[in-house]
Amino acid sequence: MEVTRDIKKDDNNLLIKIVVIGDVNVGKTNIIRRIIGEDFKEMEATIGVEFMYLNIKNIDNDDPNKTLSIQIWDTSGAERYRAITTSHIRGADGAYLVYDVTSEMSFKNLNFWYESIKNSADNDIVIYLIGNKSDLIYEEGRMVNKQEAINFVRTNNIQGYAECSAKTNENILETFRLFYTSIYKKNKTKLLEKTRKRMEKMQAQINQKNKETFCC
Ligand code: GDP
Ligand code: MG
Repeated sequence: MEVTRDIKKDDNNLLIKIVVIGDVNVGKTNIIRRIIGEDFKEMEATIGVEFMYLNIKNIDNDDPNKTLSIQIWDTSGAERYRAITTSHIRGADGAYLVYDVTSEMSFKNLNFWYESIKNSADNDIVIYLIGNKSDLIYEEGRMVNKQEAINFVRTNNIQGYAECSAKTNENILETFRLFYTSIYKKNKTKLLEKTRKRMEKMQAQINQKNKETFCC
């Protein structure tokens, strides 16, 4: 996997947008760090941690030229940033909904985060539920049973579930691979058009920003 700030602008490069949401302190930022590897810190110093791209080569066996660029948005679970988080959820193809297996509160608050997704995202968004900090189960004790999580998955429109640990890296990459593959498969036919529209929108935003910078 290749981590970059830029995306290639050609028709073989498809773009998906995902958001990582959940309460403060559940481990969202560390999960993303694990997903994108060591380069993350470097990028953090340069552009802040709002989003970054991860490029996946050979996403499609039938079409080996295709690359998938994943735009990953790290959100803050803090109350005062909720409006911004909601705006990030809008237009996302996938959401990683994270709780901490040692925090009952973070699990209860999933209802709020799930509602935010339902209210702001498209109906066909792919949602994965992630119980993070599985390494702490034996030390500090589990506060959320797997069965409770499975029930939450069953009663809501959630496509995947896993417990993982950003600390030990357990299950992080495996789960993320399943997640983006299912987003890719679900959106395959629409992605070229979606990518073009997103690129146009991004270019317009860049043009606007340049105008503001250089004018007067
Ligand atoms: P965020 O607020 O959801 O982005 O959470 P952070 O990624 O900033 O992590 C919050 C705290 O939990 C930090 O002290 C992390 O070191 C810790 N943390 C994150 N993931 C894990 C994990 O898998 N296991 C353990 N034991 N601690 C974790
Ligand atoms: Mg964070």
